[in-house]
Amino acid sequence: MTESDRTSRFLTAPRLSKSKFLAGLQCHKRVYLDVHHPEWATPPDSSMQAVLDMGTELGVLARSCFPRGVLIEEGYRQREAAIAHTATVVADPTSPALFEGAFEHDGVLVRVDILERIPGTEAETPSWRLIEVKSSSRVKEVHLADLAIQSGVLQGCGIALSAMCLMHINTEYVYEGGEIDVGRLFAIEDVTEAVKSRQMNVPEQVAEMKRLLLKGDPPVVEPGPHCQSPYECPFWAHCTKDKPARWIYHLPGSKQVVRGLVEQGITTIDEIPAGTTLSLSQRRVRDNAEWVSAKLGAVLQSIQYPVHHVDFETVMLAAPRFPSTRPYQSIPVQWSNHIEDESGTVTHQEFLHEEPTEPRKRWAEALIESLGERGSICVYSSYEEAMMRQLAEAFPEFRLAFKPILKRLWDLHPIVKDYYYHPRFNGSYSMKSVLPALVPSLAYDDLRIREGGQAAAEYYRMVFLEMDWIKRAEIRDALLRYCERDTLAMVELRRVLGEKAGGL
Ligand code: SF4
Repeated sequence: MTESDRTSRFLTAPRLSKSKFLAGLQCHKRVYLDVHHPEWATPPDSSMQAVLDMGTELGVLARSCFPRGVLIEEGYRQREAAIAHTATVVADPTSPALFEGAFEHDGVLVRVDILERIPGTEAETPSWRLIEVKSSSRVKEVHLADLAIQSGVLQGCGIALSAMCLMHINTEYVYEGGEIDVGRLFAIEDVTEAVKSRQMNVPEQVAEMKRLLLKGDPPVVEPGPHCQSPYECPFWAHCTKDKPARWIYHLPGSKQVVRGLVEQGITTIDEIPAGTTLSLSQRRVRDNAEWVSAKLGAVLQSIQYPVHHVDFETVMLAAPRFPSTRPYQSIPVQWSNHIEDESGTVTHQEFLHEEPTEPRKRWAEALIESLGERGSICVYSSYEEAMMRQLAEAFPEFRLAFKPILKRLWDLHPIVKDYYYHPRFNGSYSMKSVLPALVPSLAYDDLRIREGGQAAAEYYRMVFLEMDWIKRAEIRDALLRYCERDTLAMVELRRVLGEKAGGL
């Protein structure tokens, strides 16, 4: 098929939306696949859905800062009706603001979070303030591009903009209980000048995307670091399905090193020339061999019985719900403890706060009781220590109990990192990489929840959103199984590492 044959398959360019335009800024192939082959994308998982749900909750809170604003309720499939309703509200001088307004210009459709009317004076005609609501805690480059496409479309529709702003979360806000203070939860930053400087490129960017969307084949774009920034591309699995197992982008650490190697024409880790400056972790991946430090046995023997193996799960709420907490503060809600005595007998204890109430006191009381006064407390990150210190700071009544507990912490993560390497780690020492390599029978594949972010999202859904008690029970069970697996994993990892060290 010739290029002109393929081109003729699409006679008119599909409409662009704001999200498709932003996808196209990240990668031309991404916008092409988004439009012509959305079925090739990896579907969003439940944690992504919870992020979207949290975003919806924030959107509603943000609107409450603009009393008497009018919501354009027509959905994304009711394009014509949404545009017509928006035009009616814009023409009505008594409407002080509109939410989710729909505007279309030059084949680009945008829905605007908040458009606030700035009444004119005798000398000035009325104008509008464009406000984009984001759940992040600061302005990012992608937000400016987002506002640039919106403002371009609005101005094309004859809307005079006096300011362009980003409304984001103010992480300094401390919730004091009662009704949330939305004026302090959000910060509104005027980014008009920064957006204007990006606006001039928008018409050409749109024209270029429209041209490529008319073609019969997607543009050729080699996957690389741009696939993860500013967002993880959903076509990653599709674009990398034919790459070799030791593809150069699987080299961990500095992406600058990877870029340098790619520029030299190197496509796999095995082709890295001798003499290339690499970090320790990168050298281990290149050498692809098991390594056991002579000191591993002695380090493992420093542990005291009974050994508690603990792991915490937390939730981070954009809109805080518990007094004296800030947006996105980590709130502990769950723990698991596998206790191994000197004879090798292992028992299990666990805790999960299941109500939408302040979880921290009950969490701490149950944990302190489970940890008792004897034995090492094995963890696999510094996160557990940070959580306990934060809790002791917030609740002085637990300080005395946590002081000796903190002294009993024994972190297995730096021990693995400094004293052992297995080729199947692929340069990563996270539990999710280490466990399948050393204890394949305990890998996370059989679990519904497989990583911490997903656990936090599912917890949010179970406690704050889900109404169906059967679904709540399913999430509860999945959360318990996930946290239990993390601590059983540490018991087994210590055992396997002991064998690697010569049998302890
Ligand atoms: S995975 Fe990378 S190359 Fe493929 S479409 Fe996405 S951003 Fe483009």
